[in-house]
Amino acid sequence: MSMRKIRVCPKCGSDKISDAKTSVSGWLVPTTYYCEEKDCGYSGTLYVEIDVDEAEQLKRAMNGDTTEST
Ligand SMILES: [Zn+2]
Repeated sequence: MSMRKIRVCPKCGSDKISDAKTSVSGWLVPTTYYCEEKDCGYSGTLYVEIDVDEAEQLKRAMNGDTTEST
């Protein structure tokens, strides 16, 4: 079993998260990550890195019957 890591959105768990490197004239700014899910719209400096297997479980937990609400 491969232990490949992927980046997912900390808000909705989608793997459609991309980083936007904003370089403002020499300033070192933290990389901002955007979620491309339409219903999410997350943007921030944080992302979650998990195994691909965990991503599937996470998606299932977020889309399916959620017993825990945070
Ligand atoms: Zn998201």
